[in-house]
Amino acid sequence: MKCLNCKICEDNCQLEKVDIPSLFCMNCQPSEAPCLKECPNNAIEVLGGAITINQEKCDKCKKCESVCPISAIKI
Ligand code: SF4
Ligand code: SF4
Repeated sequence: MKCLNCKICEDNCQLEKVDIPSLFCMNCQPSEAPCLKECPNNAIEVLGGAITINQEKCDKCKKCESVCPISAIKI
């Protein structure tokens, strides 16, 4: 189907409020993900199977950055 540029999706897009750690993120299992377990604000969420950082909850404490085994997060 061809996009009609109606922009209805813009108002509902979840990605506006979130950051994806990086292309290197392995999307660790949510129950195991060190970043997700470490975040004191529950700002790291799983969206469509991908690990994301909810900017509305993140206070930039950088705790997730220090525990990612492959340094996929840069706050
Ligand atoms: S710990 Fe690192 S690799 Fe694992 S989900 Fe978090 S950001 Fe991705
Ligand atoms: S910087 Fe802190 S608050 Fe933001 S996602 Fe990482 S651990 Fe959570």
